[in-house]
Amino acid sequence: MKIHEYQGKEILKRYGVQVPRSIACHTVDEAVSAAETLGGPVWVVKAQIHAGGRGKGGGVKVAKSVEDVRTRASEILGMQLVTHQTGPQGQKVRRLLIEEGADIRHEYYVGLVIDRGCQRPVMMASSEGGMDIEEVAEHTPEKIFKAEINPTVGLTDEQADDLSHKIGIPDASVARARVALQGLYKAFWETDSALAEINPLILAGSGDIIALDAKLNFDSNALFRHPEI
Ligand code: GDP
Ligand code: MN
Repeated sequence: MKIHEYQGKEILKRYGVQVPRSIACHTVDEAVSAAETLGGPVWVVKAQIHAGGRGKGGGVKVAKSVEDVRTRASEILGMQLVTHQTGPQGQKVRRLLIEEGADIRHEYYVGLVIDRGCQRPVMMASSEGGMDIEEVAEHTPEKIFKAEINPTVGLTDEQADDLSHKIGIPDASVARARVALQGLYKAFWETDSALAEINPLILAGSGDIIALDAKLNFDSNALFRHPEI
């Protein structure tokens, strides 16, 4: 089962992963008041659909004024958003996420799946965030690093820091990345996710490590264990 980005971010936040302040909305007027509540100077207007590739498809727009938020929100809300993951018919945008703008220094990728080969959760991380990880996997697989996780132990400090070093997270931010990676793992494990992905996970100008996107897919067979989901 898939959920929206804003719902994924709520879950990640509960697990200690830093996410930008944001407000989910159903109408343009709600989007405008959300922007006012969040405060400026920069906002991101994001289509909430059950598919990725929204940025390239025109479903993620940066706004530099409240009027700009109004314009972008009215363009995106109700549109039939086509991305490489929706198929040609696209998906109708019924909900928006208005988010405070982030000061992006670098975009990383981090994701988790159950690997059938090693029969364990595997965390994948890359310095090449923000773009299609499938393309990175195809053309530059050496840029994806992996850690096999023993579920009785969890993602260890050593594993988290090793991945952070390999993808080039600066030393000053490795402790903050550890919180993000271990939080993501714990969220993945405890919610019976089949896939958990943060793309991009960013290094902000402040040195903070922040999840700008969140994708969680749940194992439908385990949903009975998670009435809250
Ligand atoms: P996806 O295309 O569906 O995966 O949607 P994302 O949430 O990943 O957004 C796509 C891209 O928009 C990201 O890779 C970022 O480069 C950009 N983006 C998202 N949030 C922000 C933000 O707060 N500020 C800026 N400047 N760019 C953002
Ligand atoms: Mn993304």
